[in-house]
Amino acid sequence: MSTMTSFRLDRAISIGLIHPFSHMLRRQRAPRVPILMYHGMQSEVAGRHPYYETNTSQERFAAHMKFLHENGYTTVNLHEALEAMMTGRNSEKRVVITFDDGFRDFYTHAFPILAEYNFKATMFIVSGLTANETVCADGKEYMTWAEVREIHARGIQIGSHTVNHPELYKLGPNQVEYEVRQSKETIEDELGEAIQSFAYPYAFPEDDKKFTSHLRELLQTHGYENGVCTIIGTARPDDDWFFMPRLPVNSFDDLRFLEAKLEGGYDWLHKPQYLFKMTKKFWQEQGQPIESR
Ligand SMILES: [Zn+2]
Repeated sequence: MSTMTSFRLDRAISIGLIHPFSHMLRRQRAPRVPILMYHGMQSEVAGRHPYYETNTSQERFAAHMKFLHENGYTTVNLHEALEAMMTGRNSEKRVVITFDDGFRDFYTHAFPILAEYNFKATMFIVSGLTANETVCADGKEYMTWAEVREIHARGIQIGSHTVNHPELYKLGPNQVEYEVRQSKETIEDELGEAIQSFAYPYAFPEDDKKFTSHLRELLQTHGYENGVCTIIGTARPDDDWFFMPRLPVNSFDDLRFLEAKLEGGYDWLHKPQYLFKMTKKFWQEQGQPIESR
């Protein structure tokens, strides 16, 4: 499906149907904090449906940051977002800006814009792809430790995104433990500071309660305080603090769509997302081939 002609059903429903109502109801509800999820900072798009795109052009990213600035958003880290939600103080507009994977284009394309607005952000790095020289894997360049130390020194919080970026639920218990523990240790050794946050790589298997509760225990055991995943939605205090939902954003998010997402207008998508995962799992269990994401 060409991206130019793809009908954005998710955009149409969010802006036309849900956002106007979420806006009306927002004040009466529990405090929510939107956590934005960015990946690469490239102009090229993959040519899939915009929903699956992970790149954001520098121009679009700059427009997003300008929008947050002009609309009075305060950027916070996950710990501060949780604290604000727990104390129920919701007079301020807060947002958490996150990036996954530690791509070098963050350093060259996103960080200068964040610095311009004095914005906080959290970068989840893959410790096994971070080295003293730039690592290039699958056509992507990753930041070096010197670059990670530099952004960290200038206000970017660093979190763990495992050692090897695997689909954790497919690994044995020892390997899962290694990915969680070793990534944290390596980053802490390099930065000389405790790592609080974890980001689950790939689609989060939220329907597999046995796996997710085991993983939560591991994260707690190894001293993590919080984390995020790919569940869609704005974060609420009653969410699992280790697997908080996020709002995926990319080059296709114009300011109206971004605003709808920030204000809870995209949260409805979690139900179809969950249903899709369950359906996929059902067919896999039946041994039927199904096109994977
Ligand atoms: Zn990732």
